Amino acid sequence: MTETLDHWISGTTDPGEGTRTGPVYDPALGVVSKEVRFATAGDVDRAVGIAKEASKAWGNTSITKRQQVMFAFREILNQRKDELAAILTSEHGKVLSDAAGEVARGLEVVEFACAMPHLTKGAFSQNVSTDVDVYSIKEPLGVVGIISPFNFPAMVPMWFFPIAIATGNTVVLKPSEKDPSVANWIGAALKEAGLPDGVFNVVHGDKEAVDALLTHPDVASISFVGSTPIAKYVYETGTAHGKRVQALGGAKNHMLVLPDADLDLVADSAVNAGFGSAGERCMAISVLLAVEPVADELIGKIRDRMGKLVTGDGRKGCDMGPLITREHRDKVAGYIDVAGSDGATVVVDGREGKFEGADDGFWLGPTLIDKVPTTSPVYQDEIFGPVLSVVRVSSYTDGVELINSGPYGNGTAIFTNDGGAARRFEREVEVGMVGINVPIPVPVAYHSFGGYKASIFGDAKAYGPQGVEFFTREKAITSRWLDPSHGGINLGFPTHD
Ligand code: NAD
Repeated sequence: MTETLDHWISGTTDPGEGTRTGPVYDPALGVVSKEVRFATAGDVDRAVGIAKEASKAWGNTSITKRQQVMFAFREILNQRKDELAAILTSEHGKVLSDAAGEVARGLEVVEFACAMPHLTKGAFSQNVSTDVDVYSIKEPLGVVGIISPFNFPAMVPMWFFPIAIATGNTVVLKPSEKDPSVANWIGAALKEAGLPDGVFNVVHGDKEAVDALLTHPDVASISFVGSTPIAKYVYETGTAHGKRVQALGGAKNHMLVLPDADLDLVADSAVNAGFGSAGERCMAISVLLAVEPVADELIGKIRDRMGKLVTGDGRKGCDMGPLITREHRDKVAGYIDVAGSDGATVVVDGREGKFEGADDGFWLGPTLIDKVPTTSPVYQDEIFGPVLSVVRVSSYTDGVELINSGPYGNGTAIFTNDGGAARRFEREVEVGMVGINVPIPVPVAYHSFGGYKASIFGDAKAYGPQGVEFFTREKAITSRWLDPSHGGINLGFPTHD
């Protein structure tokens, strides 16, 4: 009988009241491995109620105790990261080493959150007026909602909940229904680390659960990561219901290659950033802008490297795993046909590959398409698969103009040995995260992650200093301790003497 994954509410598994479920696949086998329950609005309401009750004590728990829980959680993650990576691979499909890398990048944010006593120190101004002091403190928001995508089931929730919890909030997480088990594993690990029941809760499901969170009066904020149309919807609905919202959306990331670049470094980087995690990364490189005359030589180097990649079951030491669902695999493969009819040249066709895995796995090999017209959906759409497009441009300026004319602004990279060009690029490009000879410039945990334009809705990026600001609100206190001299009546606006 197929296992059914419950919600995680108040420190334990909870079937909820809903009767709807969704299939969870093992993408390398192409079979349903379990079912996941879909929460009703009533289930979400109950989880939020429990989180609200828990927030009274957790928000008043000493910062040292909260920090100790984070340290303990870090130790558990460190000791058992292979176990978490294995669960992740079995539901997402990414290869084990990549899954371990995802956990490691999430762990960075946990380590950042361990420094919360330092990060939330307020400011103090003594004697702003005679015998009057002013100071500011950072308070938790209460119950915070997190809604995460399928492509980073461990790392993306970890961008948010360690900071939310360490600052004294309680959490209701709605993970992707496509790879939901990681969230329950995290819930159990946090409990083992000493987190009180009700501080971290998971409700599984789809739009019904998301809408219930977005409109619930006791949810103070929403942190969302997913595709742009849903991010926009989440931002508009959440803010219309009075919430603080950060909603990170989709991407179409370009790598600009200048003629003086080291083409071997470029080819390695393009293959790693284009095909790692089968291109299912919001920071994947999907367009290579080759400033002529480098395109032919570069394509040759990339094709050679692609020939050595092994696509197959992520548990068996392959380079690249399957796509998340058959439907998504077919959608991505459809772009290869579109490329042909739009006049592009398919250099390597991933449909023709050999795959090291079960016949029914959701396979698509690495694909390279040259001379992609910028009018083609292959150039314009976020494909979110192992498809790397090459667009040939005649100058640096043409390349930057193309990048800046697109709707997204998540990540980009320039490859060059010219420091002046790189410096000019970092200022001229309208993208939130920029790599200079670095293909996937995901900032470390003590900076913040987020793009520009349709890649983010809201004012706060994820994690780092902006994450701390997002999950706290500041209170300014003006105090005077009793003093023998009294100022008497004065209806004027307070000034300082
Ligand atoms: P998605 O938008 O389909 O789903 C994201 C979340 O929204 C999931 O929890 C899902 O259940 C929920 N959802 C889906 N449809 C909904 C609807 N109609 N109403 C309300 N909620 C809904 O995204 P995905 O396919 O899981 O993830 C891939 C996308 O996420 C890509 O576009 C990728 O670029 C983006 N992404 C962005 C970042 C970033 O930091 N900018 C990071 C990772 C992924």
